[in-house]
Parts: sequence; C-alpha cells; structure tokens
Amino acid sequence: MFNALIVNKNEDGKTGAAVEQIELDALPAGDVTVAVEYSTVNYKDGLCIGPGGGLVRNYPHIPGIDFAGTVEASEDARYKAGDKVVLTGWRVGEAHWGGYSQKARVSGDWLVPLPSGLDTRQAMAVGTAGFTAMLAVMALEDHGIKGGPVLVTGAAGGVGSVATAILAHLGHEVAAVTGRPETGDYLKGLGATQIVAREELNETTKRPLEAEVWGGCVDAVGGEMLARVLGQMKYGASVSAVGLAGGAGLPATVIPFLLRGVNLLGIDSVMQPYDNRLRAWERVATDLPMDKLEAMVQPAVLSDLPQLGRDILKGQVKGRVVVDVNA
Ligand code: NDP
Repeated sequence: MFNALIVNKNEDGKTGAAVEQIELDALPAGDVTVAVEYSTVNYKDGLCIGPGGGLVRNYPHIPGIDFAGTVEASEDARYKAGDKVVLTGWRVGEAHWGGYSQKARVSGDWLVPLPSGLDTRQAMAVGTAGFTAMLAVMALEDHGIKGGPVLVTGAAGGVGSVATAILAHLGHEVAAVTGRPETGDYLKGLGATQIVAREELNETTKRPLEAEVWGGCVDAVGGEMLARVLGQMKYGASVSAVGLAGGAGLPATVIPFLLRGVNLLGIDSVMQPYDNRLRAWERVATDLPMDKLEAMVQPAVLSDLPQLGRDILKGQVKGRVVVDVNA
C-alpha cells in the first residue's frame, strides 16, 4: 500500500480530494513503474484537483502533471530499475493518473532520463512550468531576440519566475510584469531589471500600435494583456505565448503582424517529442542558476495540495511549489 491524493466526484457532481492508501494493482497500465519522489503544483493541477474543467476524464483520479523519481520496474529496454527519470506532459495527471502519488505507472515514451546536473528535487523545482519557460526562451532565440528589454508576464508565477531567471542569466535585460507589487524584490533577485505593474498593461487602448518597447516576450497571461503587448513589440520581435492565466480571449488586431512583422509563437509543452524534451532539459541544467531556482521553491506535502490547487487558480502562488510525496 502507498499514499496518493485521490480526487473523487460525489453524486451532486462536486469534487473532493484526500490522501488515501491504494494498492499497486490500482495503477493504470504502463510499461514503467516509478517510485515517485517529487511532483509540483501547476495551473492545470489546480484545475484537476478542483472541478476538472474537462481535463479529467474519469474519477477517481490522481492529479500531478509532472514528477521525478526512480524506476522500480520496467518492461521498456530504455529504462532499468534504479534509473532516475523525469516526466512532464503527455496528459499525465489529466487523462492518466499522475504524480501526486508515491508510485506511478506510465509509458516509457513519456519519460526522459534525469538530466545530468540536476537531482530529482531540482528537476521538479523546474517542473512543467520551468520546462515550458525554457521552451519559450528557446523559441524566442530561434526567431531572434531584438535587444532588450525582454518582457515576462505573470512573472511571479511558475512559468514567469523561471523565464525571468533564465533570460537574466543569458544576459538579457528583463522587464517583469506582476500584479503583486510585494514580489518586486523577489523578481529583482531572480534578475529582473525592471518591474512593470500589471495595471499598466491591463489598460485597454484603441491604438493597435504603440511605441516599440520590447525585444521579446514570454507571456503566461494571454487575454487583454497579450493584445496590448503585441502593439508594443519592436520590429520583427517575437512573443512566446505560453498561458492564459488572464483569459483565453485575444482582443487584438492583425496590425502588429502586418506593420511590425511581430511573431506570435505558440508554446506547447505537452506533446513535445523526446529529442526536444531532452534538449530543453539539458538547457535548463546549464542556463538556470540553481541558487535562483532555490529562491523560487516553496515546499509542500500531499495533504497541502487541495488548498494549493485553489491558491494557484487565484494567482496566489509565488514561484514553484515542490511536493515531497514521501514526507
Ligand atoms: P501560476 O499561477 O504560477 O502563474 C500565473 C501568473 O499569472 C500569476 O502568478 C500572476 O502573476 C499572473 N496572473 C494570474 N491571474 C492573472 C490575471 N487575471 N491577469 C493578469 N495576470 C494574472 O501559473 P503557471 O506559471 O504554472 O502557468 C501560467 C500559465 O501558463 C497558465 O495558464 C498555464 O496553464 C500555462 N501553462 C502552459 C503550458 C504550455 O505547455 N503551454 C505549460 C505550463 C503552464 P503575477 O502575480 O506576477 O501578476
């Protein structure tokens, strides 16, 4: 028997989450069984702990869209017992039971070996949010960063914190947008050179183009803020669109694309092929300073997760929550 956070739906359709003991036989089919060490709290986990929002297909469910741990048993020739592995994406924690559990059984195709230079806790301090931030920075690099400052929206959140630290480490001037002024010192500690108040970019304008300000952008917010930012990008600059914490709509015009050659790059961490995942994890290990990563971490245990799931949906989590599933 081992512990897992089980989310269930009762007869009136309401969900509830509690730590329970389950048997190995209860886990879904898969060719690799992993003794999970750490998982994390991402925005999607908040959705899956709560009402599901269409992400969870069947109850009971174990959320946790990422985990790191040690292979316990494997029918996949690429992995043997004792190997350290990391998982992000592939709808684990949504359509398949995830990392809020002391054991997980998954397809070997969804794993990558733990990147050298990271332990399992550090890998999960990065987690899906940090891995996605790396993909977003790599996409900006592929299309060319047009000088500084590079804007990061939702900066005090998981994706934003890691993007800020990576961009600053790579030598870019980083402007961090936050709705929480009290996180200013934290963001400067991660390397931001400028703090932009959320309200400044939430104000709508009828002008499709404004002064050219940003040489690139990692956007975790979407909605009106993204629409406003598009009109402030430098000629030929790119926005990596990662998330929708501020809304799924995009009340923009085509003018920034037509008259300024702005690129809007969609970032999807879920279905990344193996080689891309490996490349991004290797970049994380070299381009994210570990002291900065440590400054982002808030530790948690399985029983904290119902509350943390509510907090992240309200934009109240700072940095990265690392869940020690064995504590
Ligand atoms: P967090 O909740 O940690 O961060 C989101 C941040 O956005 C908040 O901390 C807050 O930052 C800001 N924010 C929240 N609500 C609003 C609002 N109404 N208006 C403006 N800003 C807001 O989430 P994550 O960083 O984990 O994820 C961010 C987004 O990226 C989510 O939408 C998530 O689903 C998505 N995502 C997408 C992935 C992909 O593969 N494309 C992978 C991972 C995440 P502050 O307080 O600093 O303003």
